[in-house]
Amino acid sequence: MADSRRMRPTDLHDINADLHCHSVISDGTLSPEAVVERAHRNGVDILALTDHDELGGLVAAAARAQALGLAFVPGVEVSVTWANETIHIVGLRVDPHHAGLARGLDRTRNGRDGRAREIAAQLADVGIPDAYEGALKYAGNPELISRSHFARYIVETGTCASVHEVFERFLIEGKPGFIPHRWARLADAVGWICEAGGTAVMAHPGRYALGELAMDQLIREFCDAGGSGIEVVSGSHAPGQSERFVTMAQHYGLNASRGSDFHGPNESRHDLGSMPPLPRSVTPVWHHWPEAHALERR
Ligand code: AMP
Ligand code: MN
Ligand code: MN
Ligand code: MN
Repeated sequence: MADSRRMRPTDLHDINADLHCHSVISDGTLSPEAVVERAHRNGVDILALTDHDELGGLVAAAARAQALGLAFVPGVEVSVTWANETIHIVGLRVDPHHAGLARGLDRTRNGRDGRAREIAAQLADVGIPDAYEGALKYAGNPELISRSHFARYIVETGTCASVHEVFERFLIEGKPGFIPHRWARLADAVGWICEAGGTAVMAHPGRYALGELAMDQLIREFCDAGGSGIEVVSGSHAPGQSERFVTMAQHYGLNASRGSDFHGPNESRHDLGSMPPLPRSVTPVWHHWPEAHALERR
């Protein structure tokens, strides 16, 4: 059921696609259904839910989207370790029931609990006791206890005023509560996404502490593994960063994606569907998607 009050997008670039966000199935604060409802209210035309290393919210989100007449794309954000850096790869239009992808993600999630206990031990040493139990309280999915859940607990204790402040003082390399972890291999993550029928997208490239040579190597390996997209417009980028990734998308022949990386109303700088449009000089990842062409016909 299409909402006739909405303006019909006249061009692929005008489609309000939000292809990166989280629910309580990973480290977001809203249920998958509430994410979909909020996206619909905000005027999103195509939504992808991309929980970290999890497919568990996709069926409920798709059902809610269908009831609202919102085009929904099943997605995931896979944690990868590449050259000792954590890199995130978004998978879009994946089959939410694909056994190989599910198995790969299962393996990737494995170890989060042990890591969480080590994080808690370090936090206890700096005067923040019981952080494992505290973080777990915020985790909608006990298999996916993440630094975001620790950050919320640390705010609750009054040690920091915001999640942002927590990530300046704790949980990052060189600060208490940082436990290095080995996630999936780049080629494996891209392979699982492609085998599940999806498109692999380099998430928020502006967040990686990589020099130009290393970034070039990363993108080349990503392309060789079958990756075909890059987030040009991301809620996890600083203003003005997208120019560099426009050039990169053109240079490597990658399609461009757009996503808020929304985690919750009180935490995220950018709400669902609120990002600037993709520049006309790049090809949107959705250029050949039936979900996009159905919008133009609506
Ligand atoms: P994890 O997968 O457990 O290492 O947690 C990573 C998550 O922490 C990311 O997906 C973000 O949601 C959050 N995060 C990481 N760095 C920051 C930061 N500087 N500010 C706010 N959230 C962050
Ligand atoms: Mn997150
Ligand atoms: Mn990410
Ligand atoms: Mn994300």
